[in-house]
Formats: sequence, structure tokens, C-alpha cells
Amino acid sequence: MARIVMKFGGTSMAGIERIRHVSALVKREAERGNQVAVVVSAMAGETDRLVQLCREAASLYDPREYDVVVASGEQVTSGLLAITLQGMGVNARSYMGWQLPIRASGHAAALIDHIDAAVLERVFQTGGIAVIPGFQGVTAEGDLATLGRGGSDTSAVALAAAMKADRCDIYTDVDGVYTTDPRIVPRARKLDLITYEEMLELASVGAKVLQTRSVGLAMRTNMPLQVLSSFEDRPGTLIVGDEAIEDREMERNVITGIAHDKNEAMVTLTGLPDRAGTVAEIFSPLAEASINVDMIVQASPRRDAESTLTFTVPRASLAHSVAELEKVKEKIGFADIVTDTNVVKISAVGVGMRSNAGIAAQMFRTLAGRGINILAITTSEIKVSVLIPEEYTELAVRVLHTAYGLDAEDAA
Ligand code: ASP
Ligand code: MG
Repeated sequence: MARIVMKFGGTSMAGIERIRHVSALVKREAERGNQVAVVVSAMAGETDRLVQLCREAASLYDPREYDVVVASGEQVTSGLLAITLQGMGVNARSYMGWQLPIRASGHAAALIDHIDAAVLERVFQTGGIAVIPGFQGVTAEGDLATLGRGGSDTSAVALAAAMKADRCDIYTDVDGVYTTDPRIVPRARKLDLITYEEMLELASVGAKVLQTRSVGLAMRTNMPLQVLSSFEDRPGTLIVGDEAIEDREMERNVITGIAHDKNEAMVTLTGLPDRAGTVAEIFSPLAEASINVDMIVQASPRRDAESTLTFTVPRASLAHSVAELEKVKEKIGFADIVTDTNVVKISAVGVGMRSNAGIAAQMFRTLAGRGINILAITTSEIKVSVLIPEEYTELAVRVLHTAYGLDAEDAA
């Protein structure tokens, strides 16, 4: 017998037909002899609709009342799922965040502080199934709180950790995590296993299947996650710790996946004076403005010569970044600010990189072979990223996928 949290996303809960199907999956899991708790999202599109209603009501709304409005989508689906399960003869009941409780602080992007598992233990002891709305908690003041968009994934992982579950299954509309975006590379393969760290790197560079925060929480609590489809009946991708895949290392590729991210813009400052403190003077105002700088490249032809600094910021923060830099331009004494939004960041990710040399060189060679110019580079222990002109996105992802041996054998 295993203890499992099953979490269903918005497309899995979109309408009574879908909810009936979800009920059947839950019932089957329970009939295998497992203890099951279910976490649900609002119906697809519902949270967007509720957020829009708040905006229409007032441009500056109270976050406490926003939470009251947007948390309602999950209340509806958890009640409906409990009703359909009961209709199938399953002993199921919904429990709102405040009924457990799921303690949280803040509004609109609240953090979970603590979950009391006592109620759930009692439900398990009586052979019941608890259906819990994702995305919500209750503050110390007794108010509703929501966890930020996509927060149901985090609810599910936090609940799984609190009830010491053996696994947290995240049912969605894709059947797992792929080596790259299958819309770009038809030969992308579904991964059986991926580590938390790899998943975090792939998510942060634009391969969004799970809310990043939920993966971080799973890593800290060492909770095995499985991403799978509620539409197709086959195993998904298991997300686990490094140690859990060590013995499989031999069979694994050095590179696990290739991600691309079009959300960055490149900023280049020319004619920077060569003296201590210049870089600090540039990045401090950006940090104060909460602008997240990602890749950084600085070069000067020789000592005492003017240098060039290139870095990337989120596209949405570009105008803000330029405004901040204009303010310090005279004081620092650089020549120009040049920006480029037609760029993409391509990343190769894999824990196998730790024990294999030459991964970056292979990437540069592969791109050079196609005449693709690299504008900036960053590396971490398990990731190499390059910034290239946006028009080469598809080509770069495809040739790297092939070069690192990721293509599926049977062509799709
Ligand atoms: N319904 C919420 C949202 O769309 C939470 C979730 O589905 O994860 O953001
Ligand atoms: Mg979601």
C-alpha cells in the first residue's frame, strides 16, 4: 500500500465529463489499495476570468478580497469532484484550506507555513478520500490566501510532504517532461526520469510543465513527483533526487534536455571606463529596481582600455532597465546603451555534465557548424546556455538535440 497525492490541473477538471473521468482515475488508484488524497485546480480559464473580474471592479483592488474571489474556482471543482466520486460509491469529501488547516502568510502570492495532517490521517483511517482545493490556504487572521498563479502544484507537493506521502502525481494535459519542445523537434523523447535540479533548470529556461516553486519544494522535502496525463493511460515522467538515479547513470544521456527561452533582452554598454567599481555601479541600481540580470559578459581589449559590457534582462524589464541606466550614464561615464530583443537563450541541461568534459565545446562546435553566432554564454554545474539571434531558435534546438544524442529512434 502506498500513500499518494493525485493533483489534477485545470484542463483535467474542465467540465463534468472531465471530472467524471478524473473520478474514475481516483477510484482506480484507491482500489489498488492505496491511500489517496486529491488536490484540484479550478476549471481551465476560470482563474483568468476571476482575475479579470477583479480588475474590472477596480484597478487597485485589495489583495485580501482578490484572494476571496480567485480562490473560489478551486472550491467549485473540489465540491464537484467529491459529488461525482460519491456518485460512484466512493467515500469522498472535500476539505477547504481552512478546514485542515493549510496555514499561509501573505495575499495573492502567499507562502505556505504549515499544514496540519491530523484531519487527513483520520480520513485515511476511515478509508476515505479527501478532496482538497489547490491554490488556497488560510492566514493567521483566518482570511483566505492564494498562493500565486499555478499554485496548485505547490499545494499538492506541500500536502504530500505533510502527510508523508510516497509520491505526488501531477496529472496534466501533457504526458510528461520531454527532452525539448516537441513542437520544434518532432523527435523529442519523453523522459522516464529527471532530477529535481534538471527540472528546475529546464523550467527556469522556459520548459514550463510545473510551477517552479513546487519543484523546489519537492527537492527540499525529497518528495518523488510524477508528471502524467489525465487524458492518456500511460506512465509519465518521474522527478527524483540525484541519488535515486545514480545506478541508472550508465544508461542515461549526459544531456537531459534542451530548452529555449525568448523572454530575455540583451543590453550592451559601450565605452566603459576601466576602473574598479564600474560594474558594481551598473548593476546596483538594477538590483534595487528588482530587475533580474541573467547572463553577463564583459570584455576589454587590454588593460586600461575601455570595455564593453553585455548582459540580459527579462524583456518585460527592458524599458525599466534602460531608464535606470540612463540615470547613471553620466556619473559612470560610458558611451552608449544598445539593446536587442531579437535574441533567444538556448540551454543544454544535464547532471551528467558534472562528470563529463567537453559539453560546452560540443555546443559551440555544433552551432558554429550551422553558422550561428553566439552573443553571450553562461554555464553552471549542470547547464550551458548561449544567447543567439532569435531567428535561429528552431535550427539551434534541432541540431543540438541531434548532437547530444537525444533524438528518438523511431521518427515521429
Ligand atoms: N487555478 C490557479 C491558477 O490558474 C492555480 C492552479 O491552477 O495551479 O493559477
Ligand atoms: Mg497548473
